[in-house]
Amino acid sequence: MTQSFKKLRGLTGMHDVLPDQSAQWEQLEEIVRDWLASYGYRNMRTPILEHTQLFARGIGEVTDIVEKEMYSFTDSLNGDKLTMRPEFTAGIVRSAIEHNLLYERPQRIYSIGPVFRHERPQRGRYRQFHQIDVEALGFPGPDVDAEMIVMLDRLWQRLGLTDVRLEINSLGQSHERAAHREALIAYLEQHQDILDDDAKRRMYTNPLRVLDTKNPDLQEMADAAPRLFEFLGEESLAHYEGVCQRLDAMGIEYTLNPRMVRGLDYYNLTVFEWITDRLGAQGTVCGGGRYDGLFELLGGKSTPGIGFAIGMERLLELVQQQDILPNTAECDIYMVYQNDAGQQQAMVLAEQLRDAGLRVVVHAGPKSMRAQFRRADNSGALAAIILGQSELETQQASVKWLRAPALNDEQPQQEQVDFAQCAQFLKSRIGD
Ligand code: ATP
Ligand code: MG
Repeated sequence: MTQSFKKLRGLTGMHDVLPDQSAQWEQLEEIVRDWLASYGYRNMRTPILEHTQLFARGIGEVTDIVEKEMYSFTDSLNGDKLTMRPEFTAGIVRSAIEHNLLYERPQRIYSIGPVFRHERPQRGRYRQFHQIDVEALGFPGPDVDAEMIVMLDRLWQRLGLTDVRLEINSLGQSHERAAHREALIAYLEQHQDILDDDAKRRMYTNPLRVLDTKNPDLQEMADAAPRLFEFLGEESLAHYEGVCQRLDAMGIEYTLNPRMVRGLDYYNLTVFEWITDRLGAQGTVCGGGRYDGLFELLGGKSTPGIGFAIGMERLLELVQQQDILPNTAECDIYMVYQNDAGQQQAMVLAEQLRDAGLRVVVHAGPKSMRAQFRRADNSGALAAIILGQSELETQQASVKWLRAPALNDEQPQQEQVDFAQCAQFLKSRIGD
């Protein structure tokens, strides 16, 4: 008797990217990497696991992420307290300090990969999701602030996205936030009776966070609260205006959203979000801002920094709506054959075609011609190459066109080509 095992499933809120979808992920990533390189950004990779303390200190103890969204655990082998990164910036800054990355010059850096937050799963909100994270380290701005926003605008253009709008705000400097904080606490005290538990708990520890509430019953109260923007001094306003002037000069539209605080504590001065109405409730595609205090907070020298993160799944959904990422085919050419001698010839010919840059699958599995042709068709290949007995005798392959562009009314559906000419012939018909 055979034993039967229960089927196992993946984790809630964590998704498999299957081969058909993966082609789109890779295509989007390629566009994104090209775009980043064109602005002088270089890739770096930091570990997914970091000490919990890094995020607690970096992101801020009294934030949604640190209070209730982190995947944290104690390493049972040595007692270390660890966290799966909920965002990139803290890890990148940790690494920059540790390796003295800014010793010679400021750095433009990016990273792409998974991040983890224990949130309630819904459309556009997952527990493992992916970010394109971009950081400009060591630049005081406001020129680089504007450059970052401009480059995002260019990315939307490259991807053909038209319905993404920009909101910006300034969070000023710490002394300005302190003055605002007092006014805000006084205001919140006047509205004690309507505050929810989160808001009551945070009003003395992190009152600004109360304004970031997602509770619809508190929106009106949050809308009418004293605004940090009104507490900004001359220097902060000049920085803000420096950003705006450059955006104006580059023809980029934006609105000031004085309520925007962002989900992490380390931000100062410029913060921004790109939002769309095309994704339902989770409409923020990209969020970012300046974090001039973060290096010091993590034990480094005072160093300015600014960065943003794009939610890859949300961006992909937007791009899919535009229908611009095609090609989930498994290969360009599928090779079928009649017998073992044909299979061996197919292996030789396939390597020549691959050397010429074609994607080739040599059939493996059921031997009937019918089954082989069905697989060829399902693979999405543009052509099948047939190696039967007569093809082996004449040393000519039969090329059967399966799809456009080479399958069309002007050309025969099947053609004979010398083995030695095969690669060149296929390339000339298919194009690049
Ligand atoms: P939100 O207000 O939607 O929770 P956030 O302020 O927490 O966003 P950031 O920390 O700025 O988000 O992350 C940058 C981007 O990552 C967001 O703009 C969004 O596109 C994406 N993102 C954030 N949380 C999730 C999630 N749980 N699932 C999928 N994408 C997410
Ligand atoms: Mg969030």
